[in-house]
Amino acid sequence: MDTLVRAGMLYPVTSPPIENGWLLLRGGRIARIGGGEPPRADGVIDLSGHLVMPGLINAHCHLQFTAARGTMPRGDFMEWVAAAIAYSSKTSVDEMLRGVEEGVEELLTSGTTAAGDIVSLPAVAAKVARSPLRTVLFVETIALHAAGEEAAWRQCLALLESAKNAGGRIGLAPHGPHTVAPQYFSHLFQYAREEGIPITSHVAESPEENIFIAKGEGPFRALMNERGALVDSFNGCGKSPVMLIREQRALERLLAAHLNEVDEKDIAALIAAKAIPVFCPGSSRWFGRKKVMPLDRFIAAGLAPCLGTDSAASNDSLSMLDELRAAREYYPTIPVERLVEAVTINGARALGLECGALETGMWADIAAFPPCGGSPLDALFAAKEASFVMVGGKVIRNIA
Ligand SMILES: [Zn+2]
Repeated sequence: MDTLVRAGMLYPVTSPPIENGWLLLRGGRIARIGGGEPPRADGVIDLSGHLVMPGLINAHCHLQFTAARGTMPRGDFMEWVAAAIAYSSKTSVDEMLRGVEEGVEELLTSGTTAAGDIVSLPAVAAKVARSPLRTVLFVETIALHAAGEEAAWRQCLALLESAKNAGGRIGLAPHGPHTVAPQYFSHLFQYAREEGIPITSHVAESPEENIFIAKGEGPFRALMNERGALVDSFNGCGKSPVMLIREQRALERLLAAHLNEVDEKDIAALIAAKAIPVFCPGSSRWFGRKKVMPLDRFIAAGLAPCLGTDSAASNDSLSMLDELRAAREYYPTIPVERLVEAVTINGARALGLECGALETGMWADIAAFPPCGGSPLDALFAAKEASFVMVGGKVIRNIA
């Protein structure tokens, strides 16, 4: 059973755009791609006039925080961290699951077909795995001090198992270099490499994180003490978050979210390790960050960065279209093609998924956007929502 998709403009990402192009789909994958006279097929989806491209990929989100929308403080990061901890302990699982549903819907509406989602509850992992999105469930783990490592690892393995049983692709998410003891971080990295699964972490997100890691000082010290982390003897390691992770040999191809607070040495280390920066412009805007990820430098150096929404707890929107526009506002000089790669092929490669480009053999994960004149990508940057969304050959949305 073949399905033909006719496009006004086909934007494959990894090859030049094709005006009046078409895709032939078979078994949920792309069987052929071309322009001009299309082949015969059993069914036709007519998207002529629309921009047709691979579905967008959100490389960093926390769907379990969607229900926190509208309740979280803006601006002050430490105030926000306290509110996030309170949300996690006070919110019922049912409420979180309703939030997950809402978040998934929002992602799909914006033409997002795949996501790397950070989970810390089995019920959330199962809910995300069963959603129409193509997902990687990044199991989050925190161990504030070495004595807590073993318990954290047991809990992590159990959650990995339940995520796998729910049918999800899995990954690991050591929360950050300030909340995961160095040896444990290194152990998690080795495990991810042996298992061939992706690994992500929040890195150099705030000045408070850098001060705590370097000197053992600042508001994180107070918070850690309050959380029973026994940091009394910790006076900092004199390093930046990036250098601490490099010392654990855990930087290579790490999906490093945020990277706001990096210096020249950090940038060089990230480039040498071929790390995968994940820019979260909506989150940077939420906190009014003066310094944000040097995305332009990373792209110029040949890295393949991704974009992520982070969660609705620190972003007004989970639309990847809004995220693309926010990235463009921060970096108007980066060619839009590079930003589009960040939300498609780079995301797919980082998450280990066979999508993110319109190529023969890839999953038919497709999004279309209404025409608006101008160049092909203008339609994408102008779109409020997707006119058509397909995941693995299954139509999820069609208002074209
Ligand atoms: Zn995050």
